[in-house]
Amino acid sequence: MTAAISALERAAQAGFASRFDHGAMGLWSAPGRVNLIGEHTDYNDGFVLPLAIDRRTVVALATRNDRIIRVASSFASETVEVSLDELVPENLDGWSAYPLGVAWALGQFGADLSAVPGFEIYVDSNVPVGAGLSSSAALESAVAVALNDVWGLKLDRLTLARVGQLAENRVVGAPTGIMDQSASLLGRTDAVVFLDCRSLSAEVIPLGLNPAGLELLIIDTRVSHSHATGGYAARRASCEAGAHTMGVPALRDLSVDDLPRAQALLDDETFRRVRHIVTENQRVLDTVQTLRGSGCAAIGALLDASHRSMRDDFEISAPELDLAVVTARAAGAIGARMTGGGFGGAAIALTPTELVPAVQAAVLAAFATHGFATPDLFVVHAADGATHDADGEH
Ligand code: ADP
Ligand code: MG
Repeated sequence: MTAAISALERAAQAGFASRFDHGAMGLWSAPGRVNLIGEHTDYNDGFVLPLAIDRRTVVALATRNDRIIRVASSFASETVEVSLDELVPENLDGWSAYPLGVAWALGQFGADLSAVPGFEIYVDSNVPVGAGLSSSAALESAVAVALNDVWGLKLDRLTLARVGQLAENRVVGAPTGIMDQSASLLGRTDAVVFLDCRSLSAEVIPLGLNPAGLELLIIDTRVSHSHATGGYAARRASCEAGAHTMGVPALRDLSVDDLPRAQALLDDETFRRVRHIVTENQRVLDTVQTLRGSGCAAIGALLDASHRSMRDDFEISAPELDLAVVTARAAGAIGARMTGGGFGGAAIALTPTELVPAVQAAVLAAFATHGFATPDLFVVHAADGATHDADGEH
């Protein structure tokens, strides 16, 4: 808990007071995330390496003396009200499915929902929605830590990540992995979270950007191509088919030494999908080893190779993402790649601090020349995961 609260937290308190006519009991917050490397590896039981970022979703909360839940957000004019006795996935939709889904999912992980008190929540956030920075996991994780505290559940953070994932899968209906919630709950300042998506073990690895004179620049292309949903499902199907033909439970069980055999057995397209996953898993392991040894200034080539693999083998890039990556590299970034599910969204560029303005200007100019929409460019820092920020009125 910190003594001084941020402007965002103050806004959440004020929003709570104006919606509910009394003060909040406390403030909790959780960050968005960006994935440094390891794309589409999560549902192949593989490795990912995300970081929590310094953009957060704040939840102001007070419990009630009855069974009523009321949730409100700075993003929405309506306040949604539901009884704890009606908290079933079928009754929940819209943005409130995220916080209410978390309350329901806590019940699936041991909370006795027939005995806990109702509550009021007001949400405020500076995580951009739909930019690939996981505003959804930030919201889920902030609500999960808040309810875990006020309901006295004592669930650990790995379990709370699974709570958020269950809410997103079963209540919101998005078939996402565990990466986003893990980063939002386990992230640390200036560090990445090395997550094994099979064992769900997680390890915090120091990043050391500041001492290396580097910044992580986000280039949000603000485009989402229409085949994003179908493309995601098709990639998952190819991965499953590849694993099946290769006789392994998941592509995680193949190494680069298995690739010649995969090439002999699989059609060209399936082989290239498999090669992306197998080499991407290896790149995550190599990145972790490099961060531990030479440091972050030496990971640029791995980021570049990851982008090429997504562009050529997995075929999930987009012209805007390729332009962002090529332009950032030409202007001085030491490594760059698209991040997130693909077909649009954001790229990251690891950039020497003094070259950030030049890279930003070059990317803006290149997008204008190509007639693309103006991208949003900003630097993020690796931040702490979900926190309990304050009690009562401040
Ligand atoms: P993202 O990549 O940002 O996670 P998603 O589509 O997965 O994009 O999640 C965005 C959705 O999460 C929003 O449309 C909204 O329903 C919900 N959401 C995120 N942040 C907030 C917030 N601060 N207040 C209300 N709803 C939010
Ligand atoms: Mg999301």
